[in-house]
Amino acid sequence: MADRVLMTLDGEVRDLDAPLVHADDIGVLRGDGVFETLLVRGGRACAMELHLARLASSAEALALPEPDRAEWRAAVDLAVEKWGGDREGVLRLVYTRGREDAGSPTAFLLLTPVPERVLRTRREGVSVVTLERGYSVDVARTAPWQLIGAKTLSYATNMAALRHAEALGVDDVIYTSSEGYVLEGPRSTVVIARGRTLLTPPAEMGVLPGTTQQALFDVAGDHDFAVRYEPLRPADLIVADGVWLVSSVSRAARVHTLDGHPLSVRSLAGTVEELVDKAVDAAS
Ligand code: PLP
Repeated sequence: MADRVLMTLDGEVRDLDAPLVHADDIGVLRGDGVFETLLVRGGRACAMELHLARLASSAEALALPEPDRAEWRAAVDLAVEKWGGDREGVLRLVYTRGREDAGSPTAFLLLTPVPERVLRTRREGVSVVTLERGYSVDVARTAPWQLIGAKTLSYATNMAALRHAEALGVDDVIYTSSEGYVLEGPRSTVVIARGRTLLTPPAEMGVLPGTTQQALFDVAGDHDFAVRYEPLRPADLIVADGVWLVSSVSRAARVHTLDGHPLSVRSLAGTVEELVDKAVDAAS
């Protein structure tokens, strides 16, 4: 069992303490590339096909060469085998435009332990602040070069929003559009419950289509939940029967406080968290 695994896409295991990426890699210089983050659990990479599909659509949005899914699948399996055992890990798939003038992408996989923050989030839920992202819900249509909906390596603004929340003493962020609609977290999808209906904002409003939300919505009908894609306002979250930030690594983090207002956490206690676990464990 390894405590960290670094591997290039061709399956070569690399020393994590040795340099891997060149200084002129455009992924480093400009954040020009895409990535995926998967949870490894029980000796497998969860929802791998959903992640490989999104890697391909993100790559297409950036006009990167189409990722070879069979090659990525084989590399993921090998990395998980090297990781060993049933324990959880965080697997990142990184695919950049490559070195300046090289014309071929850089591709590697990195598997590391699940951070303590994530374990706490699953156990205790999160407090959240809403922050304006500064874009209209039309941005994906009117400014496709903003690459909303692609999982690009340019996460500096998301990290800045999380630091802003931390400075306020809050765990996480929900972005709102310039019109005041609920969008997403900097690293998660917003899902709310109204009775036994689960709702999330439509991707066309300018959010990344989440694999966790998709896996959840795919199985919700079998567990007596209806699902809807619908524009939401912060007030809809305050009166909801539950609000969660869902993502591959944290799974479902219940929001217990929004902009200082305590939210309902008693109704559906544990139900959606369990359903997310089941859904993602079963997803291929
Ligand atoms: N939205 C954003 C901006 C994200 O960065 C992420 C994940 O990191 C998500 C949503 C959730 O996606 P997934 O469930 O595929 O992890």
